[in-house]
Amino acid sequence: MTKQHHITLLPGDGIGPEIMSVAVEVLKAIASKHDQEFTFTEALIGGAAIDETGEPLPAETLEACRKSDAVLLAAIGGYKWDNLPRQQRPETGLLGMRAGLGLFANLRPATILPQLIDASSLKREVVEGVDIMVVRELTGGIYFGQPKGIFETETGEQRGVNTMAYSVGEIDRIAKVGFETAQKRGGKLCSVDKANVLDVSQLWRDRVTAIAQDYSDVELSHLYVDNAAMQLVRAPKQFDTIVTGNLFGDILSDAAAMLTGSIGMLPSASLGTDGPGVFEPVHGSAPDIAGQDKANPLAQVLSVAMMLRYGLDEPDVASEIETVVNQVLDRGYRTGDIMSPGMKAVGCKEMGEVLIKLIMDNG
Ligand code: NAD
Repeated sequence: MTKQHHITLLPGDGIGPEIMSVAVEVLKAIASKHDQEFTFTEALIGGAAIDETGEPLPAETLEACRKSDAVLLAAIGGYKWDNLPRQQRPETGLLGMRAGLGLFANLRPATILPQLIDASSLKREVVEGVDIMVVRELTGGIYFGQPKGIFETETGEQRGVNTMAYSVGEIDRIAKVGFETAQKRGGKLCSVDKANVLDVSQLWRDRVTAIAQDYSDVELSHLYVDNAAMQLVRAPKQFDTIVTGNLFGDILSDAAAMLTGSIGMLPSASLGTDGPGVFEPVHGSAPDIAGQDKANPLAQVLSVAMMLRYGLDEPDVASEIETVVNQVLDRGYRTGDIMSPGMKAVGCKEMGEVLIKLIMDNG
Protein backbone atom coordinates (compact mmCIF):
# COMPACT_ATOMS: atom_id res chain seq x y z
CA MET A 1 0.00 0.00 0.00
CA THR A 2 1.26 3.50 -0.84
CA LYS A 3 2.30 5.35 2.31
CA GLN A 4 0.95 8.87 2.53
CA HIS A 5 2.43 11.81 4.41
CA HIS A 6 1.00 15.29 4.54
CA ILE A 7 3.56 18.07 4.99
CA THR A 8 3.03 21.77 5.73
CA LEU A 9 5.64 23.88 3.95
CA LEU A 10 6.65 27.22 5.42
CA PRO A 11 9.11 28.87 3.00
CA GLY A 12 9.20 32.15 4.98
CA ASP A 13 11.51 34.97 3.93
CA GLY A 14 14.83 35.79 2.27
CA ILE A 15 16.46 32.68 0.80
CA GLY A 16 13.62 30.58 2.29
CA PRO A 17 11.58 30.12 -0.91
CA GLU A 18 14.72 29.26 -2.97
CA ILE A 19 16.01 26.55 -0.65
CA MET A 20 12.50 25.21 0.04
CA SER A 21 11.89 24.75 -3.68
CA VAL A 22 15.04 22.58 -3.96
CA ALA A 23 14.11 20.54 -0.85
CA VAL A 24 10.60 19.81 -2.12
CA GLU A 25 11.88 18.71 -5.53
CA VAL A 26 14.37 16.39 -3.82
CA LEU A 27 11.62 14.95 -1.63
CA LYS A 28 9.37 14.37 -4.65
CA ALA A 29 12.19 12.66 -6.53
CA ILE A 30 12.93 10.35 -3.59
CA ALA A 31 9.22 9.61 -3.07
CA SER A 32 8.81 8.65 -6.73
CA LYS A 33 11.33 5.84 -6.17
CA HIS A 34 9.61 4.49 -3.07
CA ASP A 35 6.01 3.56 -2.53
CA GLN A 36 5.31 6.90 -0.92
CA GLU A 37 3.09 9.84 -1.62
CA PHE A 38 3.69 13.27 -0.16
CA THR A 39 1.02 15.96 -0.23
CA PHE A 40 1.79 19.56 0.66
CA THR A 41 0.07 22.62 2.06
CA GLU A 42 2.05 25.83 1.73
CA ALA A 43 1.41 28.45 4.41
CA LEU A 44 2.67 31.89 5.40
CA ILE A 45 4.95 32.69 8.33
CA GLY A 46 7.30 35.53 9.28
CA GLY A 47 7.70 38.62 7.15
CA ALA A 48 5.81 37.11 4.22
CA ALA A 49 2.82 36.59 6.54
CA ILE A 50 3.12 40.12 7.97
CA ASP A 51 3.01 41.61 4.46
CA GLU A 52 -0.01 39.54 3.50
CA THR A 53 -2.05 39.44 6.73
CA GLY A 54 -0.48 41.89 9.22
CA GLU A 55 0.61 39.14 11.63
CA PRO A 56 3.64 36.82 11.66
CA LEU A 57 1.71 33.63 12.46
CA PRO A 58 -1.81 33.69 10.97
CA ALA A 59 -4.27 31.30 12.65
CA GLU A 60 -4.63 29.35 9.36
CA THR A 61 -0.89 28.63 9.38
CA LEU A 62 -0.93 27.12 12.87
CA GLU A 63 -4.05 25.15 11.97
CA ALA A 64 -2.40 23.80 8.80
CA CYS A 65 0.66 22.77 10.85
CA ARG A 66 -1.49 20.98 13.43
CA LYS A 67 -3.28 19.00 10.73
CA SER A 68 -0.10 17.77 9.05
CA ASP A 69 2.26 14.87 9.77
CA ALA A 70 5.28 17.17 9.78
CA VAL A 71 6.22 20.80 9.17
CA LEU A 72 9.12 21.80 6.93
CA LEU A 73 10.26 25.35 7.63
CA ALA A 74 12.93 27.35 5.77
CA ALA A 75 13.76 30.64 7.52
CA ILE A 76 12.11 33.88 8.56
CA GLY A 77 13.13 37.50 9.04
CA GLY A 78 14.80 40.34 7.18
CA TYR A 79 15.75 44.03 7.37
CA LYS A 80 12.28 45.13 6.22
CA TRP A 81 10.56 43.94 9.40
CA ASP A 82 13.38 44.64 11.91
CA ASN A 83 11.83 47.80 13.37
CA LEU A 84 8.28 46.58 13.92
CA PRO A 85 7.01 46.26 17.52
CA ARG A 86 8.02 42.90 19.06
CA GLN A 87 4.54 41.36 18.76
CA GLN A 88 4.57 41.90 14.99
CA ARG A 89 8.13 40.74 14.34
CA PRO A 90 8.82 37.62 12.24
CA GLU A 91 10.58 35.91 15.21
CA THR A 92 7.37 36.20 17.24
CA GLY A 93 5.70 34.00 14.62
CA LEU A 94 8.38 31.35 15.06
CA LEU A 95 8.09 31.34 18.86
CA GLY A 96 4.29 31.24 18.56
CA MET A 97 4.47 28.19 16.34
CA ARG A 98 6.86 26.37 18.70
CA ALA A 99 4.56 27.10 21.65
CA GLY A 100 1.39 26.29 19.66
CA LEU A 101 2.74 22.88 18.67
CA GLY A 102 4.18 22.14 22.14
CA LEU A 103 7.68 21.55 20.76
CA PHE A 104 9.74 20.74 23.86
CA ALA A 105 12.68 18.90 22.27
CA ASN A 106 15.22 20.41 19.91
CA LEU A 107 17.59 18.10 18.03
CA ARG A 108 20.69 19.57 16.44
CA PRO A 109 23.24 17.37 14.75
CA ALA A 110 26.87 18.34 14.31
CA THR A 111 28.25 16.00 11.70
CA ILE A 112 31.62 16.56 10.09
CA LEU A 113 31.40 15.76 6.41
CA PRO A 114 34.80 14.51 5.22
CA GLN A 115 34.61 16.75 2.14
CA LEU A 116 34.25 19.90 4.28
CA ILE A 117 36.66 19.02 7.06
CA ASP A 118 38.91 21.99 6.36
CA ALA A 119 36.00 24.39 7.09
CA SER A 120 36.37 23.49 10.77
CA SER A 121 38.54 25.74 12.90
CA LEU A 122 39.82 22.68 14.80
CA LYS A 123 42.56 20.31 13.65
CA ARG A 124 41.61 17.60 11.16
CA GLU A 125 42.57 14.77 13.54
CA VAL A 126 40.34 16.22 16.29
CA VAL A 127 37.18 16.61 14.18
CA GLU A 128 37.48 13.86 11.57
CA GLY A 129 34.53 11.47 12.06
CA VAL A 130 32.61 13.70 14.51
CA ASP A 131 28.90 12.85 14.49
CA ILE A 132 27.06 14.33 17.48
CA MET A 133 23.39 14.97 18.16
CA VAL A 134 22.49 17.52 20.82
CA VAL A 135 19.00 17.03 22.29
CA ARG A 136 18.05 20.27 24.06
CA GLU A 137 15.00 20.82 26.26
CA LEU A 138 13.24 23.79 24.70
CA THR A 139 10.25 24.95 26.74
CA GLY A 140 11.40 24.81 30.39
CA GLY A 141 14.38 25.63 32.57
CA ILE A 142 15.78 29.06 33.28
CA TYR A 143 14.25 30.73 30.19
CA PHE A 144 10.73 30.16 31.50
CA GLY A 145 10.98 29.51 35.29
CA GLN A 146 9.21 31.86 37.72
CA PRO A 147 9.92 34.25 39.32
CA LYS A 148 11.69 36.17 36.56
CA GLY A 149 12.18 39.86 36.00
CA ILE A 150 14.06 42.91 37.25
CA PHE A 151 12.85 43.83 40.71
CA GLU A 152 13.64 46.61 43.16
CA THR A 153 14.92 45.58 46.59
CA GLU A 154 14.01 47.30 49.87
CA THR A 155 17.09 49.50 49.53
CA GLY A 156 15.98 50.63 46.05
CA GLU A 157 18.68 48.62 44.26
CA GLN A 158 17.63 46.76 41.13
CA ARG A 159 17.96 42.96 41.15
CA GLY A 160 17.63 40.70 38.09
CA VAL A 161 16.10 37.28 38.69
CA ASN A 162 15.62 34.12 36.66
CA THR A 163 14.72 30.72 38.03
CA MET A 164 16.02 27.41 36.78
CA ALA A 165 13.28 24.90 37.46
CA TYR A 166 12.42 21.48 36.03
CA SER A 167 9.61 19.19 37.09
CA VAL A 168 9.92 15.40 36.99
CA GLY A 169 7.48 15.30 34.05
CA GLU A 170 9.56 17.77 32.04
CA ILE A 171 12.80 15.89 32.72
CA ASP A 172 11.31 12.47 32.00
CA ARG A 173 9.88 13.41 28.60
CA ILE A 174 13.11 15.00 27.32
CA ALA A 175 15.16 12.12 28.74
CA LYS A 176 13.00 9.69 26.75
CA VAL A 177 13.63 11.70 23.56
CA GLY A 178 17.34 11.53 24.39
CA PHE A 179 17.33 7.75 24.84
CA GLU A 180 15.18 7.16 21.75
CA THR A 181 17.43 9.40 19.66
CA ALA A 182 20.50 7.50 20.91
CA GLN A 183 18.79 4.22 19.96
CA LYS A 184 18.45 5.51 16.37
CA ARG A 185 22.14 6.50 16.37
CA GLY A 186 25.23 5.03 18.06
CA GLY A 187 23.51 3.86 21.27
CA LYS A 188 25.40 6.23 23.62
CA LEU A 189 23.75 9.02 25.61
CA CYS A 190 25.59 11.66 27.65
CA SER A 191 23.40 13.68 30.01
CA VAL A 192 24.83 17.11 30.79
CA ASP A 193 24.00 18.98 34.02
CA LYS A 194 25.55 20.87 36.91
CA ALA A 195 24.50 18.48 39.66
CA ASN A 196 27.55 19.32 41.80
CA VAL A 197 26.10 22.81 42.40
CA LEU A 198 22.44 23.01 41.33
CA ASP A 199 19.55 21.18 43.03
CA VAL A 200 17.55 21.29 39.80
CA SER A 201 20.42 19.45 38.11
CA GLN A 202 20.50 16.81 40.90
CA LEU A 203 16.84 16.04 40.15
CA TRP A 204 17.70 15.99 36.43
CA ARG A 205 20.49 13.46 37.03
CA ASP A 206 18.33 11.27 39.31
CA ARG A 207 15.48 11.16 36.79
CA VAL A 208 17.69 10.50 33.74
CA THR A 209 19.31 7.64 35.69
CA ALA A 210 15.87 6.26 36.60
CA ILE A 211 14.58 6.49 32.99
CA ALA A 212 17.71 4.63 31.81
CA GLN A 213 16.21 1.42 33.30
CA ASP A 214 13.80 1.34 30.34
CA TYR A 215 16.60 1.65 27.78
CA SER A 216 19.09 -1.08 28.59
CA ASP A 217 20.43 -0.95 25.00
CA VAL A 218 21.67 2.64 25.51
CA GLU A 219 24.94 3.33 27.37
CA LEU A 220 24.34 6.33 29.68
CA SER A 221 27.01 8.68 31.03
CA HIS A 222 26.82 12.02 32.88
CA LEU A 223 29.01 15.12 32.58
CA TYR A 224 28.99 18.47 34.32
CA VAL A 225 28.39 21.22 31.79
CA ASP A 226 31.79 22.88 32.24
CA ASN A 227 33.55 19.59 31.56
CA ALA A 228 31.20 18.89 28.61
CA ALA A 229 32.17 22.23 27.03
CA MET A 230 35.85 21.34 27.43
CA GLN A 231 35.41 17.82 26.06
CA LEU A 232 33.49 19.11 23.02
CA VAL A 233 36.49 21.05 21.78
CA ARG A 234 39.17 18.70 23.20
CA ALA A 235 37.88 15.30 22.05
CA PRO A 236 34.47 15.66 20.34
CA LYS A 237 34.53 12.11 18.91
CA GLN A 238 33.72 10.67 22.37
CA PHE A 239 30.14 11.97 22.00
CA ASP A 240 27.23 10.30 20.23
CA THR A 241 24.01 11.81 21.63
CA ILE A 242 23.91 14.53 24.30
CA VAL A 243 20.76 15.39 26.27
CA THR A 244 20.59 18.55 28.34
CA GLY A 245 18.42 21.42 29.59
CA ASN A 246 17.47 24.61 27.82
CA LEU A 247 20.34 26.92 28.85
CA PHE A 248 23.16 24.37 28.64
CA GLY A 249 21.73 23.06 25.36
CA ASP A 250 21.56 26.53 23.84
CA ILE A 251 25.27 27.02 24.40
CA LEU A 252 26.52 23.47 23.72
CA SER A 253 24.51 23.05 20.49
CA ASP A 254 26.10 26.18 19.02
CA ALA A 255 29.56 25.07 20.12
CA ALA A 256 28.98 21.60 18.64
CA ALA A 257 27.61 23.08 15.40
CA MET A 258 30.71 25.20 14.95
CA LEU A 259 32.92 22.10 15.03
CA THR A 260 31.63 21.63 11.49
CA GLY A 261 32.42 25.20 10.40
CA SER A 262 29.66 25.53 7.79
CA ILE A 263 26.30 27.04 8.70
CA GLY A 264 24.73 26.30 5.29
CA MET A 265 24.95 22.54 6.05
CA LEU A 266 23.19 22.24 9.41
CA PRO A 267 19.62 20.97 9.86
CA SER A 268 17.52 20.78 13.05
CA ALA A 269 14.35 19.23 14.39
CA SER A 270 11.91 20.34 17.08
CA LEU A 271 9.59 17.68 18.46
CA GLY A 272 6.48 17.66 20.66
CA THR A 273 4.67 14.89 22.53
CA ASP A 274 2.48 13.61 19.74
CA GLY A 275 1.66 16.26 17.10
CA PRO A 276 3.90 17.12 14.14
CA GLY A 277 7.53 18.12 14.51
CA VAL A 278 9.13 21.11 12.80
CA PHE A 279 12.23 20.56 10.68
CA GLU A 280 14.37 23.52 9.60
CA PRO A 281 17.92 24.63 8.86
CA VAL A 282 19.88 26.18 11.72
CA HIS A 283 20.74 29.25 9.61
CA GLY A 284 18.54 32.31 9.09
CA SER A 285 17.00 33.91 6.02
CA ALA A 286 20.33 35.32 4.73
CA PRO A 287 18.80 38.54 3.33
CA ASP A 288 22.24 39.58 2.03
CA ILE A 289 22.11 36.88 -0.67
CA ALA A 290 18.33 36.42 -1.10
CA GLY A 291 16.99 36.21 -4.66
CA GLN A 292 20.50 35.84 -6.16
CA ASP A 293 20.61 32.05 -6.54
CA LYS A 294 23.59 31.95 -4.16
CA ALA A 295 22.04 30.11 -1.20
CA ASN A 296 23.25 26.68 -0.14
CA PRO A 297 20.13 24.46 -0.07
CA LEU A 298 21.83 21.49 1.63
CA ALA A 299 20.82 22.34 5.23
CA GLN A 300 17.23 22.47 4.01
CA VAL A 301 17.64 19.17 2.17
CA LEU A 302 19.19 17.60 5.29
CA SER A 303 16.21 18.96 7.26
CA VAL A 304 14.04 16.83 4.96
CA ALA A 305 16.19 13.84 5.94
CA MET A 306 15.66 14.66 9.63
CA MET A 307 11.93 14.98 8.97
CA LEU A 308 11.91 11.51 7.44
CA ARG A 309 13.93 9.95 10.27
CA TYR A 310 12.55 11.70 13.37
CA GLY A 311 9.11 12.86 12.21
CA LEU A 312 7.83 10.24 9.77
CA ASP A 313 9.75 7.13 10.84
CA GLU A 314 11.26 6.59 7.40
CA PRO A 315 14.95 6.05 8.26
CA ASP A 316 15.86 4.33 4.99
CA VAL A 317 14.59 7.20 2.84
CA ALA A 318 16.36 9.64 5.19
CA SER A 319 19.65 7.76 4.69
CA GLU A 320 19.19 7.91 0.94
CA ILE A 321 18.98 11.71 1.08
CA GLU A 322 22.06 11.91 3.30
CA THR A 323 23.93 9.66 0.87
CA VAL A 324 23.05 11.85 -2.10
CA VAL A 325 24.22 14.99 -0.26
CA ASN A 326 27.54 13.22 0.33
CA GLN A 327 27.72 12.30 -3.34
CA VAL A 328 27.28 15.89 -4.60
CA LEU A 329 30.06 16.97 -2.27
CA ASP A 330 32.26 14.03 -3.37
CA ARG A 331 31.80 15.17 -6.94
CA GLY A 332 33.03 18.62 -6.02
CA TYR A 333 29.85 20.69 -6.32
CA ARG A 334 29.91 23.69 -3.97
CA THR A 335 27.80 26.80 -3.38
CA GLY A 336 29.72 29.98 -2.52
CA ASP A 337 29.61 29.52 1.27
CA ILE A 338 31.48 26.17 1.15
CA MET A 339 33.59 26.84 -1.96
CA SER A 340 37.27 25.91 -1.97
CA PRO A 341 39.92 25.90 -4.72
CA GLY A 342 39.45 23.30 -7.44
CA MET A 343 35.74 22.71 -6.73
CA LYS A 344 32.82 23.36 -9.12
CA ALA A 345 30.85 26.49 -8.23
CA VAL A 346 27.08 26.10 -8.51
CA GLY A 347 24.09 28.17 -7.52
CA CYS A 348 21.14 27.05 -5.41
CA LYS A 349 19.09 25.83 -8.38
CA GLU A 350 21.89 23.91 -10.02
CA MET A 351 22.77 22.23 -6.71
CA GLY A 352 19.14 21.01 -6.67
CA GLU A 353 19.37 19.74 -10.24
CA VAL A 354 22.55 17.81 -9.49
CA LEU A 355 20.93 16.24 -6.41
CA ILE A 356 17.90 15.10 -8.40
CA LYS A 357 19.99 13.70 -11.23
CA LEU A 358 22.00 11.67 -8.72
CA ILE A 359 18.84 10.39 -7.01
CA MET A 360 17.57 9.17 -10.39
CA ASP A 361 20.97 7.76 -11.45
CA ASN A 362 21.30 5.87 -8.14
CA GLY A 363 18.38 3.77 -9.37
P1 NAD B 1 21.83 34.13 8.74
O1 NAD B 1 22.02 32.73 9.16
O2 NAD B 1 20.63 34.43 7.94
O3 NAD B 1 23.12 34.59 7.91
C1 NAD B 1 24.44 34.63 8.45
C2 NAD B 1 25.45 34.55 7.30
O4 NAD B 1 25.44 33.23 6.76
C3 NAD B 1 25.11 35.49 6.14
O5 NAD B 1 26.30 35.96 5.57
C4 NAD B 1 24.40 34.58 5.14
O6 NAD B 1 24.52 35.00 3.80
C5 NAD B 1 25.09 33.24 5.38
N1 NAD B 1 24.17 32.12 5.14
C6 NAD B 1 23.17 31.70 5.95
N2 NAD B 1 22.54 30.67 5.40
C7 NAD B 1 23.14 30.42 4.22
C8 NAD B 1 22.93 29.47 3.18
N3 NAD B 1 21.97 28.56 3.24
N4 NAD B 1 23.73 29.53 2.10
C9 NAD B 1 24.72 30.43 2.02
N5 NAD B 1 24.98 31.35 2.96
C10 NAD B 1 24.20 31.34 4.05
O7 NAD B 1 21.88 35.00 10.08
P2 NAD B 1 21.67 36.58 10.27
O8 NAD B 1 22.30 37.32 9.14
O9 NAD B 1 22.08 36.84 11.65
O10 NAD B 1 20.10 36.80 10.22
C11 NAD B 1 19.38 37.17 9.02
C12 NAD B 1 17.89 37.13 9.32
O11 NAD B 1 17.53 35.76 9.63
C13 NAD B 1 17.47 37.96 10.54
O12 NAD B 1 16.25 38.58 10.24
C14 NAD B 1 17.32 36.92 11.63
O13 NAD B 1 16.39 37.32 12.61
C15 NAD B 1 16.83 35.74 10.85
N6 NAD B 1 17.07 34.43 11.48
C16 NAD B 1 16.07 33.51 11.34
C17 NAD B 1 16.26 32.25 11.84
C18 NAD B 1 15.17 31.24 11.62
O14 NAD B 1 14.36 31.40 10.74
N7 NAD B 1 15.15 30.17 12.39
C19 NAD B 1 17.46 31.89 12.48
C20 NAD B 1 18.47 32.85 12.58
C21 NAD B 1 18.27 34.13 12.06
